[in-house]
Amino acid sequence: MSKLQPARGTRDIYGVEARNMTCVVDTFRRVAGTYGFEELATPIFEFTEVYKRPLGEASDIVSKEMYTFEDRGGEELTLRPEFTAGVCRAFISNGMQQNLPCRLMSYGPAFRYERPQKGRYRQFHQINAELLGQDTPEADIDMIAMAWRLLRELGLGEKVVLHLNTLGDKESRTAYKEALVTYLNKFKGDLSEDSQRRLESNPLRILDSKDEGDKKIVTDAPKLSDHLNETSLNFFETVKKGLDIVGVPYIHDERLVRGMDYYCHTAFEFVTTELGAQGTVLGGGRYDGLIEQLGGPATSGVGWAGGIERLAMLADVGEAPERPVVIMPMGEAATFKAFEIAEMLRNKGLTVTADRSGNMKKRMNRADKANAAFAIIIGDNELEQGTAMLKRLDDGTQSEIAFADIAAAIQFN
Ligand code: ATP
Ligand code: MG
Repeated sequence: MSKLQPARGTRDIYGVEARNMTCVVDTFRRVAGTYGFEELATPIFEFTEVYKRPLGEASDIVSKEMYTFEDRGGEELTLRPEFTAGVCRAFISNGMQQNLPCRLMSYGPAFRYERPQKGRYRQFHQINAELLGQDTPEADIDMIAMAWRLLRELGLGEKVVLHLNTLGDKESRTAYKEALVTYLNKFKGDLSEDSQRRLESNPLRILDSKDEGDKKIVTDAPKLSDHLNETSLNFFETVKKGLDIVGVPYIHDERLVRGMDYYCHTAFEFVTTELGAQGTVLGGGRYDGLIEQLGGPATSGVGWAGGIERLAMLADVGEAPERPVVIMPMGEAATFKAFEIAEMLRNKGLTVTADRSGNMKKRMNRADKANAAFAIIIGDNELEQGTAMLKRLDDGTQSEIAFADIAAAIQFN
């Protein structure tokens, strides 16, 4: 055990970063609320099957990223690697199909065994939204519009680009997979090891391989857009038309396939060039077979997840904490009076801390470091007269004020 360090890929989050992340979550909850989304908090661990079945054995997540363990009772459990499967499990467990469509928002930690780097951790955090029970492309438009509004409210409208693709319906995808595998088989020996494996299990994933050799081979691969049937084409056209009307700019990115087996039709990612290889800040798409696969009633779904760390790094929108008022009692009687005054000021919404130790100089130094705006000094003399010394720390001006008038005398400008 390396002493006093968090486990590899995990971090302590505090200060500016914590404030930025909280602001991302607050903005998400507010924006999703305006689209009618309600909160759902699922457990952080589920039976392993909940993730294994829908994501597919061949997915990166199941094959190499999950934190899976057996608990003391012998249950096979997995720490949440993503939200969608757990949300769908909750949808089924709670009979939510009685009330469609279902708009569910969630946020919290997720866990993947990955190689840690900037913007990529083993414990990270996501905001997540799912719209269940609407199989029409208009639902996809709603979801992307909501993501776009969130990103703009975070000030990221100029920093991210929407990559949009369609995976078509099952029929189109099957036809395309065949054409793709026939083509890729010609280069089988030149493909990366990962991609050779994917050729059997998950050939579409080869399209977004990061391997340079794979990328070259993929350049001339048959295109999914040439294999879309009419239903799939119409679906995609409607999505694009809706995005134009809502005013969401996008580029059609034929490479975009997304990692999970359950996606169909719309796939999208908002990408930035400012975070290096960790450029995807938010991604999602449509998944029409997932709930059935988990044993629920056939219900379509469309959703997305955003990485809170990556969004927070880009957005830097967290608000600085309120500047505190520091109350400095000198002596025992004053200390008790100070509790009373502090509570009175907090009733008015002020941030108040107490500094009860050391000489005046030390206390003033600490107040400066804490970016305090005012100091309230109560000594024995003041106590007797029912007054305190109020000091404005920005310019050093001070005045003696009756206890009852302190709140009114504290003006922040
Ligand atoms: P990537 O291609 O970066 O591995 P992904 O396709 O695996 O991303 P998703 O499963 O779509 O990611 O998760 C949604 C979002 O969660 C990502 O766009 C990203 O912002 C964030 N995310 C995913 N994995 C991590 C991680 N290990 N650390 C931090 N953020 C992550
Ligand atoms: Mg990943």
